[in-house]
Amino acid sequence: MNVILLGSPGAGKGSQAVRLKDEFGFRHISTGDLIRAEIAAATPLGKKVESLVKQGNLVADDLIFDLLKNALKSETRSIVFDGFPRTIAQAEDLDKYLAEQGKKMDYILSIELTDEEAIKRLTSRRVCKSCGAVYNIYWPDYKGVCTKCGGELYTRADDTLESAKHRLDVFKKETQPLLDYYGSKPGFVKINGLGALEEVFASIKQALNLIK
Ligand code: AMP
Repeated sequence: MNVILLGSPGAGKGSQAVRLKDEFGFRHISTGDLIRAEIAAATPLGKKVESLVKQGNLVADDLIFDLLKNALKSETRSIVFDGFPRTIAQAEDLDKYLAEQGKKMDYILSIELTDEEAIKRLTSRRVCKSCGAVYNIYWPDYKGVCTKCGGELYTRADDTLESAKHRLDVFKKETQPLLDYYGSKPGFVKINGLGALEEVFASIKQALNLIK
Protein backbone atom coordinates (compact mmCIF):
# COMPACT_ATOMS: atom_id res chain seq x y z
CA MET A 1 0.00 0.00 0.00
CA ASN A 2 1.32 3.46 -0.90
CA VAL A 3 0.27 6.45 1.18
CA ILE A 4 1.02 10.18 1.00
CA LEU A 5 0.72 12.25 4.15
CA LEU A 6 -0.02 15.79 3.01
CA GLY A 7 -0.17 18.70 5.41
CA SER A 8 1.57 21.90 6.43
CA PRO A 9 4.85 21.86 8.33
CA GLY A 10 3.94 20.97 11.92
CA ALA A 11 0.87 18.92 10.94
CA GLY A 12 2.44 15.81 12.45
CA LYS A 13 3.24 13.98 9.19
CA GLY A 14 6.56 12.66 10.49
CA SER A 15 5.18 11.51 13.85
CA GLN A 16 2.31 9.67 12.17
CA ALA A 17 4.59 8.13 9.54
CA VAL A 18 6.80 6.72 12.31
CA ARG A 19 3.71 5.11 13.86
CA LEU A 20 2.77 3.51 10.53
CA LYS A 21 6.34 2.22 10.27
CA ASP A 22 6.43 0.83 13.82
CA GLU A 23 2.95 -0.68 13.87
CA PHE A 24 2.50 -1.85 10.29
CA GLY A 25 6.01 -2.13 8.79
CA PHE A 26 5.69 0.71 6.28
CA ARG A 27 8.85 2.11 4.74
CA HIS A 28 8.92 5.73 5.92
CA ILE A 29 10.26 8.08 3.27
CA SER A 30 10.83 11.63 4.52
CA THR A 31 12.50 13.81 1.90
CA GLY A 32 13.26 16.27 4.74
CA ASP A 33 15.23 13.54 6.54
CA LEU A 34 17.01 12.60 3.30
CA ILE A 35 18.03 16.21 2.71
CA ARG A 36 19.12 16.72 6.35
CA ALA A 37 21.31 13.60 6.06
CA GLU A 38 23.00 15.15 2.99
CA ILE A 39 23.54 18.39 4.92
CA ALA A 40 24.91 16.57 7.99
CA ALA A 41 27.32 14.59 5.80
CA ALA A 42 28.37 17.80 4.00
CA THR A 43 27.96 16.18 0.57
CA PRO A 44 28.10 18.49 -2.49
CA LEU A 45 24.28 18.42 -2.57
CA GLY A 46 24.08 19.08 1.17
CA LYS A 47 26.38 22.09 0.91
CA LYS A 48 24.44 23.44 -2.04
CA VAL A 49 21.04 23.37 -0.31
CA GLU A 50 21.95 24.03 3.34
CA SER A 51 21.14 27.74 3.54
CA LEU A 52 18.01 27.38 1.45
CA VAL A 53 16.65 24.63 3.74
CA LYS A 54 17.53 26.66 6.83
CA GLN A 55 15.48 29.58 5.52
CA GLY A 56 12.52 27.31 4.82
CA ASN A 57 12.62 27.32 1.03
CA LEU A 58 12.05 24.28 -1.15
CA VAL A 59 14.86 22.31 -2.76
CA ALA A 60 14.63 22.04 -6.58
CA ASP A 61 12.24 19.35 -7.79
CA ASP A 62 14.84 17.38 -9.78
CA LEU A 63 17.32 17.22 -6.87
CA ILE A 64 14.64 15.99 -4.46
CA PHE A 65 13.31 13.47 -6.96
CA ASP A 66 16.78 11.99 -7.56
CA LEU A 67 17.20 11.53 -3.80
CA LEU A 68 13.79 9.90 -3.56
CA LYS A 69 14.37 7.49 -6.46
CA ASN A 70 17.68 6.48 -4.98
CA ALA A 71 16.08 5.78 -1.59
CA LEU A 72 13.24 3.79 -3.16
CA LYS A 73 15.43 1.55 -5.33
CA SER A 74 14.10 -2.03 -5.13
CA GLU A 75 11.76 -1.17 -2.24
CA THR A 76 8.96 -3.73 -2.03
CA ARG A 77 7.28 -2.73 1.24
CA SER A 78 4.30 -0.44 1.68
CA ILE A 79 5.54 3.16 1.57
CA VAL A 80 4.44 6.21 3.51
CA PHE A 81 5.57 9.46 1.87
CA ASP A 82 6.16 12.26 4.37
CA GLY A 83 6.91 15.72 2.95
CA PHE A 84 6.78 14.53 -0.65
CA PRO A 85 5.34 15.57 -3.03
CA ARG A 86 5.39 19.28 -2.23
CA THR A 87 4.76 20.68 -5.71
CA ILE A 88 2.54 19.72 -8.65
CA ALA A 89 5.65 18.84 -10.67
CA GLN A 90 6.76 16.40 -7.93
CA ALA A 91 3.29 14.81 -7.84
CA GLU A 92 3.34 14.32 -11.61
CA ASP A 93 6.83 12.80 -11.46
CA LEU A 94 5.74 10.47 -8.67
CA ASP A 95 2.66 9.31 -10.60
CA LYS A 96 4.83 8.59 -13.65
CA TYR A 97 7.44 6.78 -11.56
CA LEU A 98 4.85 4.54 -9.88
CA ALA A 99 3.05 3.82 -13.17
CA GLU A 100 6.34 2.71 -14.74
CA GLN A 101 6.56 0.07 -12.05
CA GLY A 102 2.93 -0.99 -12.30
CA LYS A 103 2.21 0.65 -8.93
CA LYS A 104 -0.15 3.40 -7.82
CA MET A 105 -0.88 5.73 -4.93
CA ASP A 106 -3.56 4.15 -2.79
CA TYR A 107 -4.27 6.88 -0.24
CA ILE A 108 -3.60 10.57 0.06
CA LEU A 109 -4.32 11.82 3.57
CA SER A 110 -4.49 15.55 4.10
CA ILE A 111 -3.73 16.28 7.77
CA GLU A 112 -5.32 19.64 8.58
CA LEU A 113 -4.71 22.11 11.41
CA THR A 114 -4.65 25.87 12.02
CA ASP A 115 -1.65 28.08 11.27
CA GLU A 116 -1.43 29.07 14.96
CA GLU A 117 -1.16 25.44 16.05
CA ALA A 118 1.38 24.68 13.30
CA ILE A 119 3.63 27.58 14.40
CA LYS A 120 3.34 26.59 18.06
CA ARG A 121 4.30 22.98 17.30
CA LEU A 122 7.21 23.88 15.01
CA THR A 123 8.83 26.38 17.36
CA SER A 124 8.50 24.01 20.35
CA ARG A 125 9.72 20.89 18.52
CA ARG A 126 12.93 19.21 19.63
CA VAL A 127 14.75 16.37 17.84
CA CYS A 128 17.19 13.77 19.15
CA LYS A 129 20.70 14.25 17.74
CA SER A 130 21.38 10.53 17.88
CA CYS A 131 18.21 8.70 16.79
CA GLY A 132 16.04 11.45 15.26
CA ALA A 133 13.09 10.90 17.63
CA VAL A 134 10.84 13.95 17.80
CA TYR A 135 9.59 15.64 21.00
CA ASN A 136 7.75 18.77 22.01
CA ILE A 137 8.50 20.90 25.04
CA TYR A 138 4.76 21.14 25.82
CA TRP A 139 4.29 17.39 26.17
CA PRO A 140 3.53 16.53 29.80
CA ASP A 141 6.20 13.79 29.77
CA TYR A 142 8.88 15.97 28.12
CA LYS A 143 12.22 15.31 29.83
CA GLY A 144 14.59 17.49 27.81
CA VAL A 145 16.52 14.40 26.77
CA CYS A 146 15.69 11.53 24.39
CA THR A 147 13.76 8.89 26.33
CA LYS A 148 14.46 6.31 23.59
CA CYS A 149 18.26 6.48 23.48
CA GLY A 150 19.32 9.14 26.00
CA GLY A 151 20.55 11.39 23.18
CA GLU A 152 20.79 15.16 23.34
CA LEU A 153 17.85 17.14 21.89
CA TYR A 154 18.24 20.05 19.50
CA THR A 155 16.03 22.57 17.69
CA ARG A 156 15.99 22.18 13.90
CA ALA A 157 17.66 25.11 12.09
CA ASP A 158 14.40 25.76 10.22
CA ASP A 159 12.18 25.69 13.33
CA THR A 160 12.88 29.33 14.26
CA LEU A 161 9.76 31.53 14.29
CA GLU A 162 10.89 33.37 11.15
CA SER A 163 11.60 30.19 9.19
CA ALA A 164 8.46 28.43 10.44
CA LYS A 165 6.28 31.33 9.25
CA HIS A 166 8.03 31.33 5.90
CA ARG A 167 7.54 27.55 5.55
CA LEU A 168 3.81 27.99 6.08
CA ASP A 169 3.76 30.64 3.31
CA VAL A 170 5.70 28.30 1.01
CA PHE A 171 3.26 25.50 1.86
CA LYS A 172 0.29 27.66 0.89
CA LYS A 173 1.84 28.76 -2.37
CA GLU A 174 3.57 25.59 -3.56
CA THR A 175 1.94 22.63 -1.81
CA GLN A 176 -1.69 23.56 -1.18
CA PRO A 177 -2.48 23.32 -4.92
CA LEU A 178 -1.90 19.59 -4.44
CA LEU A 179 -5.24 19.46 -2.62
CA ASP A 180 -6.89 20.17 -5.97
CA TYR A 181 -4.58 17.78 -7.79
CA TYR A 182 -5.44 14.90 -5.45
CA GLY A 183 -8.82 16.05 -4.14
CA SER A 184 -10.93 14.21 -6.69
CA LYS A 185 -8.78 11.06 -6.80
CA PRO A 186 -9.85 7.86 -5.08
CA GLY A 187 -8.19 7.44 -1.69
CA PHE A 188 -8.14 11.16 -0.83
CA VAL A 189 -9.21 11.69 2.80
CA LYS A 190 -9.06 14.75 5.07
CA ILE A 191 -7.82 14.08 8.60
CA ASN A 192 -8.31 16.42 11.56
CA GLY A 193 -4.76 17.01 12.79
CA LEU A 194 -5.67 19.05 15.86
CA GLY A 195 -6.07 16.20 18.34
CA ALA A 196 -3.48 14.31 20.35
CA LEU A 197 -1.05 12.14 18.34
CA GLU A 198 -2.91 8.94 19.23
CA GLU A 199 -6.29 10.41 18.22
CA VAL A 200 -4.93 11.50 14.87
CA PHE A 201 -3.32 8.07 14.40
CA ALA A 202 -6.69 6.41 15.07
CA SER A 203 -8.26 8.53 12.28
CA ILE A 204 -5.41 7.59 9.96
CA LYS A 205 -5.77 3.86 10.67
CA GLN A 206 -9.49 4.12 10.02
CA ALA A 207 -8.93 5.97 6.72
CA LEU A 208 -6.43 3.28 5.63
CA ASN A 209 -8.69 0.42 6.75
CA LEU A 210 -6.02 -0.71 9.18
CA ILE A 211 -8.19 -0.99 12.29
CA LYS A 212 -7.57 -4.47 13.68
P1 AMP B 1 10.50 18.62 6.32
O1 AMP B 1 11.39 17.80 7.20
O2 AMP B 1 9.55 17.78 5.49
O3 AMP B 1 9.82 19.73 7.05
O4 AMP B 1 11.46 19.32 5.23
C1 AMP B 1 12.47 20.23 5.63
C2 AMP B 1 12.98 21.00 4.44
O5 AMP B 1 13.58 20.09 3.49
C3 AMP B 1 11.94 21.75 3.63
O6 AMP B 1 11.60 23.01 4.21
C4 AMP B 1 12.66 21.90 2.30
O7 AMP B 1 13.68 22.87 2.37
C5 AMP B 1 13.32 20.53 2.16
N1 AMP B 1 12.40 19.57 1.53
C6 AMP B 1 11.90 18.44 2.09
N2 AMP B 1 11.08 17.79 1.25
C7 AMP B 1 11.04 18.53 0.12
C8 AMP B 1 10.38 18.40 -1.13
N3 AMP B 1 9.55 17.37 -1.36
N4 AMP B 1 10.59 19.34 -2.07
C9 AMP B 1 11.42 20.38 -1.84
N5 AMP B 1 12.07 20.58 -0.70
C10 AMP B 1 11.90 19.66 0.29
